[in-house]
Amino acid sequence: MKIDLNVQPLSSWINTGKQPLLIAGPCSAETEDQLVATAHLLAKTGKVTALRAGIWKPRTRPGEFEGIGSIGLKWLQRAKEETGLPVAIEVATGKHVEEALAAGVDILWVGARSTVNPFTVQEIADALKGVDIPVMVKNPVNPDLSLWIGALERINNAGITKLAAIHRGFSSYEKSAFRNEPMWDMAINLKTHAPHLPIINDPSHISGNRDLIQYVAQKALDLDMQGLMIESHIDPSVAWTDAKQQVTPSHLADIIDALTLRKPETANTEVSSKLDELRKQIDKIDDLLIQKLAERMQIVEKIGQYKKDNGITILQVGRWDEILQKRTGYAKALKLNPEFTEKMLEMIHSESIRKQTEIMSKEQAEGQAQEKMTHA
Ligand code: PEP
Ligand code: MN
Repeated sequence: MKIDLNVQPLSSWINTGKQPLLIAGPCSAETEDQLVATAHLLAKTGKVTALRAGIWKPRTRPGEFEGIGSIGLKWLQRAKEETGLPVAIEVATGKHVEEALAAGVDILWVGARSTVNPFTVQEIADALKGVDIPVMVKNPVNPDLSLWIGALERINNAGITKLAAIHRGFSSYEKSAFRNEPMWDMAINLKTHAPHLPIINDPSHISGNRDLIQYVAQKALDLDMQGLMIESHIDPSVAWTDAKQQVTPSHLADIIDALTLRKPETANTEVSSKLDELRKQIDKIDDLLIQKLAERMQIVEKIGQYKKDNGITILQVGRWDEILQKRTGYAKALKLNPEFTEKMLEMIHSESIRKQTEIMSKEQAEGQAQEKMTHA
């Protein structure tokens, strides 16, 4: 399914000359000195295209630093004047939008805690009506693609066409190495739904820890995301927010230098014809896989009918265990990842059960109808 977003290319609102496109700056504007000094160091790296800073910070618990507020807009103006970098901030209310526009902020973004709430997003969208400013929408805290798309649609419906998404990972109950699970499939899905929408990756909030930033940033670029937003602070050890995930401007430059840039396509005809050939092989195998799955389902239907006729339950745990054991063993011998095999078999099995349940209940409903007729 495609969603209908009217989006202008990234290059219409931000300089895409430097690759990768990098938006960087502190998690929070803390003091005028901290912000301006960080901005200068970032500009000096020559790798940064826009400066970010949080002025109003949505905090999980009250009592934490909630952002310096409107005064920070003046500091941002100074940083912009002195470095020439366009500036980006998070907005979470209509009033934030008004203040940001009045202060000449160049780019706005909607934070993950706002994207979850359609009322908040609509309030921001209403404040943006008739305004021509780029807006980036972070994914919602929870892994819900519709919420993300809905927020993008609300902002787009307000007339904002300089639009991008930011992938910052998702909250998850299970603890992992990441602060926010990347769930790359979510970003890939968004790309499939809205192929022209630029997606910027935020490795800082995904990682939650500066050591993972390199890995996440590389993976994002390999998945053809259009840019990176990375938190950078002149002295992360004393940062008032997100201290563990911020990097100094020079560390940031090292991270960017160590990235490998790959292209989605190649002009080299030899490479592209080899790729074409391999893709054709994949296409053939995919067709075969689908054909075989359809054949398997036809047999499942026969089994369902047979079980029904003989009063046998749909599920026999022993049989399922045997399938799982045998298939994963075989798959492992063929060098397939056991986790992948198990997941795939579970999907096939649950579809088989769904099909058999359909057969049983259909038969049952028909039987009951028949019975009613004979008693009538
Ligand atoms: C931020 O960018 O500093 C921020 C608060 O991010 P998120 O909305 O992704 O949590
Ligand atoms: Mn932050």
